[in-house]
Amino acid sequence: SAMRDARIKKTKTVCTYCGVGCSFDVWTKDRKILKIEPQVEAPANGISTCVKGKFGWDFVNSEERLTKPLIREGDAFREAEWEEALELISFKFTDIKDSYGPDSMAFITSSKCTNEESYLMQKLARGIIGTNNVDNCSRYCQTPATLGLFRTVGYGGDTGGIKDIEKSELVLIIGSNTSESHPVLATRIKRSHKLGKQKLIVADIRKHEMADRSDLFIQPAPGSDMIWLSAVTKYIVDKGWTDRDFIKNRVNGMEEYIKTLEPYTMEYAEKVTGVSKEDLITLAKAIHEAGSVAALWAMGVTQHGGGSDTSTAISNLLLITGNYGKPGTGTYPLRGHNNVQGASDFGSMPDRLPGYEKVTDEKVRAKYENIWGAKIPENPGLNNHEMVEGIHSGTIKAMYLKGEDMGLVDSNINHVHEAFEKLDFFVVQDIFLSRTAEFADVVLPASPSFEKEGTFTNTERRIQRLYQVFEPLGDSKPDWQIIMNVANSLGAGWNYGHPSDIMDEAAKLSPLYAGVNYERLEGYKSLQWPVASDGKDTPLLFTEAFPFPDGKARLFPVEWTKPIDFGDEFDIHVNNGRLLEHFHEGNMTYKSKGISSKTPKVFLEVSRELAKDRGLEDGTLVRLTSPYGHAKVECLITDRVKGKEVYLPMNDSGDGAINQLTSSHSDKDTDTPAYKEVQAKMEVLRVK
Ligand code: SF4
Repeated sequence: SAMRDARIKKTKTVCTYCGVGCSFDVWTKDRKILKIEPQVEAPANGISTCVKGKFGWDFVNSEERLTKPLIREGDAFREAEWEEALELISFKFTDIKDSYGPDSMAFITSSKCTNEESYLMQKLARGIIGTNNVDNCSRYCQTPATLGLFRTVGYGGDTGGIKDIEKSELVLIIGSNTSESHPVLATRIKRSHKLGKQKLIVADIRKHEMADRSDLFIQPAPGSDMIWLSAVTKYIVDKGWTDRDFIKNRVNGMEEYIKTLEPYTMEYAEKVTGVSKEDLITLAKAIHEAGSVAALWAMGVTQHGGGSDTSTAISNLLLITGNYGKPGTGTYPLRGHNNVQGASDFGSMPDRLPGYEKVTDEKVRAKYENIWGAKIPENPGLNNHEMVEGIHSGTIKAMYLKGEDMGLVDSNINHVHEAFEKLDFFVVQDIFLSRTAEFADVVLPASPSFEKEGTFTNTERRIQRLYQVFEPLGDSKPDWQIIMNVANSLGAGWNYGHPSDIMDEAAKLSPLYAGVNYERLEGYKSLQWPVASDGKDTPLLFTEAFPFPDGKARLFPVEWTKPIDFGDEFDIHVNNGRLLEHFHEGNMTYKSKGISSKTPKVFLEVSRELAKDRGLEDGTLVRLTSPYGHAKVECLITDRVKGKEVYLPMNDSGDGAINQLTSSHSDKDTDTPAYKEVQAKMEVLRVK
């Protein structure tokens, strides 16, 4: 009937899973999701989505959703009204700030939340509390890539758009399980490659789908990428294959940089990485012969003690071969969450204000102080890794964390849980009672992306709008409203009527999105930063200049950081990463039936050699033990891994959770945990 049809509606949204940033229409009837319908005009994906975008939405209506604030009473929580929860928070925050100072408090935003929400979280930390202790989970993944690009080319984002990768003559993928982690982006590469328009070279310790498809696959020893990258760079220099014009006109520091490549001979690289000299020469030649090279990388590079340096080495290699500034070239650090890019872009970083302007810069602070009417502290704050240590040492007393299951996704979680227990006051804001929320004093019920408006910025720096599909469930609220209420309970007097008001304020402050406003983002319209005040955006970076005072890029010398050695007793190397079907700790995907029925749990990939050696079969239950904890998981025998390297997907929140095994070691430049440097011993618990 007409009445029934009137309840059917269609709303445009942006996927809340990975950084590809697929957008699509959601057809609904009341709170029922009828279908997900991608549209041709969707800039990142067109008519494609992956299984998560298509079927991963039941969690929105899950019975486990938080619909009321919760307040701790002894070992349990009781439901409360918003007023009581906010009063308690304002009382405790004020008390702790007065007793121990603003730097005794820490704030963590979520890369699943909108740009506007990240902006408000750092404004609360800096402008209302008076601390720069604010961070987001890009610290767990891509901050090393951002730093590597800051050092060399000046902007910490993908050089071009996802569609530009299609145009590349050679795609080099390093430490990225692209077809499972960024499915729709991988599809574009698969297509170009199949059509013979593109060569594909993959470097990874695991033989995943993209490796299977590649023209050349190299399997370097874990943590040795910086060595072969430098050897290939040196080989290109020695052969005279550099792009001399490009270097002369657009790059600084060539002479000093070349000197630092001296030790990286092919012989040395072969010895350390285990990749044959012949393969590395083939790789160098392919780069030399290709008209355009795009380099894609992810956690396999960044989550190491030398993650920033390896990211820098990738950018150096592209600079000396002139692979920046024209279509099909450039660097693509693939962002994990839907809004990892945006959370940092909008200032949830301890040393950077929105648009990556430095908190140490007096002029920048003055600009903010003027509009905010508040003093901004000049010393950079603590990152989330330092916050955990700060709690242990007693300097951090309170934490306000939104949408981040830090108690599962940070490394060495037993150590993190001990920290949570030491906090005087802990506020967690989430859509579910996550593992982290179990440690909270107050839990605030938030709304997922379907229940709010705002913008996300995907891996290609593309800012896109999402529209509200449903009303917030129960008493839950969009995060921007909750943060505003918390700020106002502390006397802030904020008065944002809609997320567009927040964007307007941010656009006034940060040159990166000077011309961003909601009209320019209507429907499927989008903008790639930097956006000039007249609304002109930047699909491809560095076509004319690099954002340094003289407009030139900088070669940045780096050194190799050896991976940590856990000792001979821990003889199994535990690689870890994603599965196509699930997302991170699985808070959303396991609660979506279409997905959990297909892939109900994780498994440990073991090689045939190891299986034979230890008597393992498919389904054998093993216990892995590292110096930091244990994980229990069933085995799956596969050709994807070799020797004593195993692969444990990160998508388990129970006995198999990977971060029971990871350490507190981190990238020396950014403190990103060295998740990929894990060794364990293995015992068989049950043969199937
Ligand atoms: Fe969502 Fe990423 Fe899948 Fe696109 S590729 S539908 S953004 S999870």
